[in-house]
Amino acid sequence: MARKVLLSVVVCGFVVLAGCATQEKVEQKGPLSQYVGSDTGRWLIHDVNRPAPPKVTPGKVPSDAVVLFDGTDLSEWTDAKGGKSKWIVKEGCMESVKGAGYIQSKRKFSSCQLHVEFATPSTVEGSGQGRGNSGVFLMGEYEVQVLDSYNNHTYPDGQCAALYGRNVPLVNASAKPGEWQSYDIIFHRPIFNGDKVVRRARATFTVLHNGVVVHDHVVLEGGTGWKGPHAISDYKPHADKGPVSLQDHGNPVRYRNIWVRELAD
Ligand code: MG
Repeated sequence: MARKVLLSVVVCGFVVLAGCATQEKVEQKGPLSQYVGSDTGRWLIHDVNRPAPPKVTPGKVPSDAVVLFDGTDLSEWTDAKGGKSKWIVKEGCMESVKGAGYIQSKRKFSSCQLHVEFATPSTVEGSGQGRGNSGVFLMGEYEVQVLDSYNNHTYPDGQCAALYGRNVPLVNASAKPGEWQSYDIIFHRPIFNGDKVVRRARATFTVLHNGVVVHDHVVLEGGTGWKGPHAISDYKPHADKGPVSLQDHGNPVRYRNIWVRELAD
């Protein structure tokens, strides 16, 4: 009996001591104040004086977006040489015309968020790369492939939503031919030092295809230009800003509701 009492006293003593230790730790954490560095300075956590972000009204087009095409005309666009484009506008969308060449925005952008809606032809013709081929080019250089990839097999690094020749989309989120689809692209431009890309500042892509993530902060290893059946371009130095370009690949692909929000590099 005496041994049991002694054991109980010892156990209770440990519990009390452990409790004291725990309480001491909590008391040490209480007065801790944390600061964080930011673009607007160094701020105390939960400081109500920290600058709030600007307001943006969301919707079909965010209120701070630059609208490149709203379905009415091609006033924001030229052909690849800066002249009038032969692409046509009808039924609230623009459509590529075989032989007209690329169409490109007059305005130039750096890192950005780009929204594009597109539809491959409802009348299915051709196969592989010959079916509903077009493309969305960031800075006029880096292609997010547009293709009819609904029951149309091709090389995966050239199917719809591929970063052409480089990165296969995580999934095939393609809609049926003729149906409207969307890309939401978050792009960070590459930075060059002389004629070489800065290794830690290569281009990055996050892409949603019809609302589905298909590229999750992918680092682009080089250019996406087609050089041959099994060859694509490497990075080549270019200006800090470039146009949004859309490809004429001989198929009548339609586009609508195109807007850009510029981002910091
Ligand atoms: Mg293409």
